Amino acid sequence: MPEKTADVIVVGGGVMGCSTLYYLAQMGVTNTLLLERDTLGSGSTGRSAAILRSHYSNEVTTRMAIEGHRVISNFEDEIGEPGGFVKTGYFFLASEEQAEPLRRNVALGRSLGLNTEALEPAAALELLPDGFNLDGIAAIASEPDSGYADSSAVTNGFASAARRAGATIKLGVEVTGILTGKGRVTGVQTTDGPLHASAVVLVAGPWSAELLMSVGAPVPLSYVRHQVVQLRRSLQRYPTLPTVADAPGGYSFRPDSGDVTLVTIKEDPADRETYNRSVDAEVAQMALEVMAHRLPGFEEAGWDGGWSGLFTVTPDWHPVIDRVPGVEGLVCGVGFSGHGFKLSPAIGRALAELTVEGRSTSIDMTPLRFTRFAEDDLIESSYGATVFA
Ligand SMILES: Cc1cc2nc3c(=O)[nH]c(=O)nc-3n(C[C@H](O)[C@H](O)[C@H](O)COP(=O)(O)OP(=O)(O)OC[C@H]3O[C@@H](n4cnc5c(N)ncnc54)[C@H](O)[C@@H]3O)c2cc1C
Repeated sequence: MPEKTADVIVVGGGVMGCSTLYYLAQMGVTNTLLLERDTLGSGSTGRSAAILRSHYSNEVTTRMAIEGHRVISNFEDEIGEPGGFVKTGYFFLASEEQAEPLRRNVALGRSLGLNTEALEPAAALELLPDGFNLDGIAAIASEPDSGYADSSAVTNGFASAARRAGATIKLGVEVTGILTGKGRVTGVQTTDGPLHASAVVLVAGPWSAELLMSVGAPVPLSYVRHQVVQLRRSLQRYPTLPTVADAPGGYSFRPDSGDVTLVTIKEDPADRETYNRSVDAEVAQMALEVMAHRLPGFEEAGWDGGWSGLFTVTPDWHPVIDRVPGVEGLVCGVGFSGHGFKLSPAIGRALAELTVEGRSTSIDMTPLRFTRFAEDDLIESSYGATVFA
């Protein structure tokens, strides 16, 4: 092999790439190079609502969410950088058919150490803002310690901590191919020429698809545009708000700074390159209506813009975290299906372990293996194939 540029090359500077770089350094691997074609967090990460909740329907994701919350809510102590965590409490609202799965998921979370409770509507009303309308809701999962963080701060925090440990980050360099020889990865081809390494971690978000295809290891990925509507509410009426997911309604909301509330709503198939990055007027109207239905004071709320971002979705709305079959030394983390931010500390650690030790030891990622689609062994979600997973 030609002279090595680094021991490990990480492709993509979203939250997953930066977290992986940090955990590689934690494992003593600091001769590393992260390549980002644009700027850190310029993909889905910079468009995230960055909600942290741990209510999930399966063990591996619940474990990752609990670990993600532990790290992100203590980011300053853990990583030495601000992460912008705000504890708001979280309520997951479920319909009659979703009530039993909700109770099962709460029991799963509790068995893994999560502070969560399944509530009847009357008990939840004691905790929700005055006048909250629980029409059509049969059960509520509450997580008092959950909230949201700042996806840019977390991404840059991981990057800064990794740099301090010796890692290198290059911006404005695009990876155009994966170099292989004798069944193993030897580096990457880039817009700056070839760069050599004995391991490569592929975390290029929606753009991982072609690179995986080029080494004969396709993952079924599709792309969905998701809108984040920014509303302004009366602070007199609602000085604070919890973070809420309305599963029957298919949307979530959380407070932001000042009087701003973010409503994350609507998923439409989209073209990766040309999708509309702003918010549709009719979706903003829909957000105002669903909010006013639950919290009547939102009848007087105003629409103040927002943005759209891309979900990179797998058939079971869960990511692939694995070594790439047939290419020794190539590891990938793709298909976060709109809920990856909170999982990023656990994913970065697992990708670092897969790279260095060949298997993920902190959390067993076998359920998220590469081959599960071909084996027809998909992850099941209580709430169907949606972001609530
Ligand atoms: C609107 C929206 C709301 C969301 N809300 C939440 C939420 O509330 N909670 C939650 O947990 N998750 C949420 N998510 C999901 C979460 O943001 C993503 O799962 C996560 O950010 C994915 O990170 P990533 O690093 O895999 O991808 P990305 O952030 O897309 O990073 C990939 C990076 O790779 C770079 N790249 C691509 N190709 C190349 C190449 N060939 N060479 C070099 N660089 C390359 C890109 O420029 C990009 O910076 C949301 C997502 C969106 C879009």
